Amino acid sequence: MTTKIRPLAAGNWKMNGLSASIGEIKAIAQAAAQIGGADVLICPPATLIAAATAAASGRIAIGGQDCHAKASGAHTGDISAEQLKDAGATFVIVGHSERRADHGESDEVVRAKAEAALRAGLTVIVCVGETHLQREAGQTLAVVGGQLSGSLPHGATAKNMVIAYEPVWAIGTGLTPTPADVAEVHGFIRHELVDLMPGEGAAVRILYGGSVKPSNAAELMAVENVNGALVGGASLTAKDFLGIASVYK
Ligand code: PEP
Repeated sequence: MTTKIRPLAAGNWKMNGLSASIGEIKAIAQAAAQIGGADVLICPPATLIAAATAAASGRIAIGGQDCHAKASGAHTGDISAEQLKDAGATFVIVGHSERRADHGESDEVVRAKAEAALRAGLTVIVCVGETHLQREAGQTLAVVGGQLSGSLPHGATAKNMVIAYEPVWAIGTGLTPTPADVAEVHGFIRHELVDLMPGEGAAVRILYGGSVKPSNAAELMAVENVNGALVGGASLTAKDFLGIASVYK
């Protein structure tokens, strides 16, 4: 039986955006009613979550880009999942390759953060993906499989967890895998999820991320087991992001 999965069009603003950028969130929220075939999410920097939540007025979801594993404590500069929720977030991204690379986050750390997200009642987006060297060495599926089994939180369901497959070499580079390559990895992730999460894995959303643009979104989103996109650079303007999300009109 094939499970009908409602896609998710998600934007990750990374360390971009000032209060003047809230206009982009407003424009995306106003147009969201026309994206009837998908849920829409923007993850601005933490400084903008409260203002973005107000601007979204329930028409799109707002999320964080990372969280600490603990709920509170002496962790200067960190933000807990509970604090994100309190500011209005309903999602949080964990294990983005920029966090794994810049902050040395291991699968164990990513799993602890994902479990914190579930504890706080957020939906967690767990990112996985291989580097260029790993792909060249034929290790893509082994790497992604290891990240999945190492990072998936206990208590995950198809409702509270989303996977984002983001080949590291495709992020911010303008390069994308071929649809056949995307199909291979997403098919593998589906297979692993069904194995790791009996009764749930078939319905978990698997997003593709890495240089998604209005010009390639239709082709990438049409690939089997691609249940939406995680978009970086092209999510910074309403025009480009809506150009991608309109695949799900
Ligand atoms: C990302 O970092 O999540 C991402 C997909 O970036 P970009 O779309 O800019 O490649």
